[in-house]
Amino acid sequence: MLVVMDKHATQAEIDRVVAAIREMSLTPHPMPGATRTAIGITGNISAVDPRTLEVLPGVSELIRVTKPFKLASREMHEADTYVKIPLVPAPGTRGSEGVAIGPGTFTIIAGPCSVEGEDMILRTAEFLTRHGVRLMRAGAFKPRTSPYAFQGFGLEGLEILAKARERTGIGIVTELMDTDNADAVEEAADVIQIGTRNMQNFSLLRRVSRARKPVLLKRGMSATLEEWLMAAEYVMSGSNYNVILCERGVRTFSDHSRNTLDLSVIPPVKQLSHLPILVDPSHGTGRRDYVPAMALAALAAGADGLLLEVHPDPDRALSDGAQTLNFAGFEKLLESLKRLAEPLGRVLN
Ligand code: PEP
Ligand code: MN
Repeated sequence: MLVVMDKHATQAEIDRVVAAIREMSLTPHPMPGATRTAIGITGNISAVDPRTLEVLPGVSELIRVTKPFKLASREMHEADTYVKIPLVPAPGTRGSEGVAIGPGTFTIIAGPCSVEGEDMILRTAEFLTRHGVRLMRAGAFKPRTSPYAFQGFGLEGLEILAKARERTGIGIVTELMDTDNADAVEEAADVIQIGTRNMQNFSLLRRVSRARKPVLLKRGMSATLEEWLMAAEYVMSGSNYNVILCERGVRTFSDHSRNTLDLSVIPPVKQLSHLPILVDPSHGTGRRDYVPAMALAALAAGADGLLLEVHPDPDRALSDGAQTLNFAGFEKLLESLKRLAEPLGRVLN
């Protein structure tokens, strides 16, 4: 349910509607707009009659949201959401103060699969910053199929990432795997990544719904679009409205690539939801020689950016080397993306 307030509604009238929603044991989500405020309602609506809100002063109309994902839907929030990531420029540099992810722009998030040590992280952060990339990905906690494979540097990895941010001003995107490490990851990250294997880890989603940082929500490898948007709804229902979706490939019968990168999900995501969507062609294909084509295709298909694996020496990477670009490969792709972005009216971010 969505309460649309009158253009001339006063703050007191808005506050009264918010209080009335709470009295019904429902949750109000005030959404100030350019001309009027709307208030989303979530909770178990069936038990109460929200039509009583219609008669309150300042209320213009009540709109029923038909989709099961409410806050994530365009019915509730028509305008595109731009997820803003504030950044602190490194001392003595003219670095940027933030990135906004959303339509019209195309944001590149790049970096190694895992934090493998201080040297390679600092080198990668400096390389990316030189090329105008303002967000670096790198996992300190790694979800690995084998318990014997490299599991990541954990808390020490987060410290290395913090050092890279301090030195270069680059924003950090890193994965949170479990609620135990939530405080540490929330502190270290500028964007908290939820991996494909955790898309339906509901206690983890509830924890990040209370986080102060935006959430990059990867699509579960066998998730339908509705399940994915319901996962986003979990995060938003706790009032963390800063959710960035990320398509990373799904499991199909195809065995020519690691996953099947589902670029065809982009138009329906844009139709059903106001949230930005990124594409991860590295995990989506599993092979670095397939990454450039799918990265360019993602831009053309209307994605709002990319999550890319880049490493100073991919052949020696401790995880996902086969799908990781080296610096020269990344530079080449960046040039192509810049060339394609312009005619498509997109600004590389
Ligand atoms: C990653 O991006 O580091 C990762 C583990 O990806 P996914 O969750 O998509 O497998
Ligand atoms: Mn990886």
